[in-house]
Amino acid sequence: MLLDIAYIGLGSNLKNPSQQIKDALRELHQSSNICVQACSHLYKSKPLGPQNQPLYTNAVCKLNTSLSPIELLDVLQSIETNHKRERNGEKWGPRTLDLDILLFNQERINCERLKVPHIGMQHREFVLVPLFEIAPDLVMHDGRSLAAWINDCDLNGLKRLNNKIDFASIAA
Ligand code: ATP
Ligand code: MG
Ligand code: MG
Repeated sequence: MLLDIAYIGLGSNLKNPSQQIKDALRELHQSSNICVQACSHLYKSKPLGPQNQPLYTNAVCKLNTSLSPIELLDVLQSIETNHKRERNGEKWGPRTLDLDILLFNQERINCERLKVPHIGMQHREFVLVPLFEIAPDLVMHDGRSLAAWINDCDLNGLKRLNNKIDFASIAA
């Protein structure tokens, strides 16, 4: 039984970012003990940190899983590695694929490898807006609604792309 619910933030700004994200969704869905339930539109956002890099493409998906949070992180990191994610030490540098656990049920996790809810998500328009698309009724861990968080967040020129991800073809 895949009883736990996680929300994952996906981001890419290298080597055909939209395709990287669609492929990552399929790979997630095909992983053992993970079932992707919903995915937002794709969005274009300005980079965090160094500005001399391409715009990002982002999405958020909801999945059900029977994995522990750390096991889920292992799966996400192995998918990043399969997408030739390079870690050259530059914080928030360009990348083919970034997969972050935003929320895992209502849990708060604070271990060396994993902090949940994801640190900084409150101030990231490219996380909050796509998350709202698929979970508009979420109440965040401070007791405020996701809508209230969005209201307080700078949208920073975030643009929704027209193409809705063809979820049926991903789940097929
Ligand atoms: P940010 O986490 O600010 O979005 P980033 O995604 O670029 O930055 P990464 O290089 O992908 O950072 O990951 C750095 C480390 O963050 C990973 O090795 C992982 O162990 C840790 N980490 C902590 N919490 C999380 C989380 N909720 N989801 C994914 N990775 C996390
Ligand atoms: Mg990240
Ligand atoms: Mg990351």
